[in-house]
Amino acid sequence: MNSRLDTNVLVVGAGPVGLTLAMDLASRGVDVTMVETRRAGEPPNVKCNQVSARSMEVFRRLGIAGKIRATGLPAEYRNDVSCCVSATGAELSRIKLPSRAGRLRGEDGDDGAWPTPEPTHRINQLFLEPLLFAHAAAQPRIRILNRTQFESFSQDAQGVTALVRNLDSGERTSIRSGYLVGCDGARSTVRRGIGAELAGIAQYQRVQSTWFRAPQLLSLLPGEPAWMYLAFNPRRCGTMMAIDGKETWLIHNFLYNDEPDYDSIDRDWAIRQILGVGPEFDFEIISKEDWTGRRLVADRFQNGRVFIAGDAAHLWIPHAGYGMNAGIADAANLAWKLAAVLNGWAAPALLDAYQAERQPITDQVSHFAFNMAKEVSQQRREITADIERHDAVGDATRAAIGKEAYDLYVQQQCCAGLNFGYFYADSPIIAYDGHAHPAYSMGRFTSSSVPGCRAPHVWLRDGRSLYDALGDGYGVIRFSSAVAVSGLVAAAERRGVPLSVLDIDDAEASELYGRRLVLVRPDRHVAWRGDEEPAAATDLIDLVRGAHAGASPREHRVLAQT
Ligand SMILES: Cc1cc2nc3c(=O)[nH]c(=O)nc-3n(C[C@H](O)[C@H](O)[C@H](O)COP(=O)(O)OP(=O)(O)OC[C@H]3O[C@@H](n4cnc5c(N)ncnc54)[C@H](O)[C@@H]3O)c2cc1C
Repeated sequence: MNSRLDTNVLVVGAGPVGLTLAMDLASRGVDVTMVETRRAGEPPNVKCNQVSARSMEVFRRLGIAGKIRATGLPAEYRNDVSCCVSATGAELSRIKLPSRAGRLRGEDGDDGAWPTPEPTHRINQLFLEPLLFAHAAAQPRIRILNRTQFESFSQDAQGVTALVRNLDSGERTSIRSGYLVGCDGARSTVRRGIGAELAGIAQYQRVQSTWFRAPQLLSLLPGEPAWMYLAFNPRRCGTMMAIDGKETWLIHNFLYNDEPDYDSIDRDWAIRQILGVGPEFDFEIISKEDWTGRRLVADRFQNGRVFIAGDAAHLWIPHAGYGMNAGIADAANLAWKLAAVLNGWAAPALLDAYQAERQPITDQVSHFAFNMAKEVSQQRREITADIERHDAVGDATRAAIGKEAYDLYVQQQCCAGLNFGYFYADSPIIAYDGHAHPAYSMGRFTSSSVPGCRAPHVWLRDGRSLYDALGDGYGVIRFSSAVAVSGLVAAAERRGVPLSVLDIDDAEASELYGRRLVLVRPDRHVAWRGDEEPAAATDLIDLVRGAHAGASPREHRVLAQT
C-alpha cells in the first residue's frame, strides 16, 4: 500500500451513471473521486441509443445538454422508427420523430407535446460517454483515477475506507471518503460488498447483436432514412439502428427460446434477412455485442454509507430505451441528498429515502420492460409468410402487422409515462396529503402536483423554463402573492435549507397545480402542497430534510397539516 487519498464521495465506475452522479455532486459543492478501470475517455461498447427527456433535463441543469444535443446523428437525420418487412423492403408503418435540428426548430413528432424543456435525444452511448467524461474531468471538484480498479471497502461510523489498485503499476491505494457509491455496472463489486442480491429473472432472452460498417446501405433504404428499423419477416425478425447516420449500424437479432446459444443461428444469414439483402451485399463486422435480456433488481440499494446505482442496482431488457436513463434518475435522486447531508443542512436519515424511493420505481420499470418484451416476442412469433404475398392477403397482413407494431413500439419510443409519470409513493421525506397519485403506463401519464409526483413543467411568461427558475435547492412555487410564505422561508433559514420562492402569475399553470403553494425538491419532485403555509413550518422543513425520517407516511400527513 502506497498512499491514502481523502474525498467527500468515492464513486466507483465512470459509466454514464457514475459520471452524472459525480457532476451533480460537484455542482452542489461536493468533492468527488472516481475510480474507473477503463482508460481516460475510452468509449464503451455500442449499446444505449436513447437519452430520455428526463435525463436531458438533468444534463440541462449540469450545463451539458447543449453539447449532447449537438452530437449524435447528422443534424437533419430523422429519428423515425420504421416498421418494415426488412430494412430495404416494404414499410408497414412509421413512428415520426424529428431530427435533432428539427427538435431545435420546434418540429412536431409522435412525442411532440411533452411538457419538458428537453425532449428525448437519440445518441449512441459510444458518443455520449466521452462527452460526459470530458465535462466531468473539467470540473475542479472531480478527480478521476483511470486504469484503477476498486477492490474492497470497510466502513465505520465516520466514513468508508476503500482499497483500489492501479492496473498498470499494480500500486494499491486506500481512499477514505464520507460515502461510497457503486456505479460499477452489472457485475458490481460494490453490490456484493453491501450484501445485496439481485432478484427476478436472470435470463429471459438472448440477443445476437452486431455492430457493422456498410457505407452503401443508406442508399438502399426506401424513402427517408429512419433511425431505427423493426423488421418483421418469417425468416428473421430484428431491429437495426443507425449509429453514425452514415455507414455504421447496430443490429439486434432476438433469439427464440428454442435457440439457446448465441451461436444457434448463423449471424451472417440472420443479418441479411433483417436487412433484406442477398449474399452479394458487403458489410464489415466491427464488433459482436451479444447480450442477455434479464429482469433483475437488487434487494437493497444501501448499506450504511455505501450505495449502489444504475446497472449495479438493476438490469432489464432495454425496451423503451431505459436502463441508463433509470440509472441517471438514481444519480439525480441520490446526488442532492448526499450533498445536503455533506453540506450540513440535512439529517443523515435523509439518505434512507434513496432506497425507499428508487427501489420500488426501478422494480416497476423492470416489469414494464419485461411485459413489453413478452408482447413484442409474441408478435415476432406470429409473423407468417403472408406478410410477403403480393396480393390482397399480403396487403391486409402488412396493414395489420404495421398497425400492431406501431401501437406496441410507440409506447416505447415515445414513453411519456416512464419519463414523467412515475412518483415516489412511500417516501419518508414527502408530506403526502391523502390524494391518490395518477396511474401511469409506459406511454401515458397525467401531470399532477400530488406530493411524490414530478412537478409539472411549464414555461414562464419571461420565456424561462420553470426548472431553470427553480434553481438548485428546494423551491416554493406560489400562485398568489397574497399567500404568506414567510414562515416557511424563516424555518428553512433556521435549518440552513436552501429555499427559494418563485411567484407564478399564470392562470393555466395555477389550474394545473391546483394549490396556491407547492414545495418542489431539488430533483423536481413535489415534497408538499397546500393553499396556506403550514402553521408548523419548521416541522415540514424538518420532514423534508430527513429529520423526521422515522415517522410513518400518516404521521407525515399530520405533520404537514399542522
Ligand atoms: C443493446 C443495449 C441497448 C441499450 N439501450 C439503452 C437505451 O437506449 N437507453 C438506456 O437508457 N439504456 C440502454 N441500455 C442500457 C445501458 O447501456 C446501461 O443501463 C448503462 O450503460 C448503465 O450505465 P452504468 O453507468 O450504470 O453502468 P456501466 O455503463 O456498465 O458502467 C460501469 C462502469 O464501471 C466500471 N467498473 C466496473 N467495475 C469496476 C471496478 N471494480 N473498479 C473500477 N471501475 C469499475 C466499468 O469499466 C464501467 O465503465 C442498453 C443496453 C444494451 C445492452
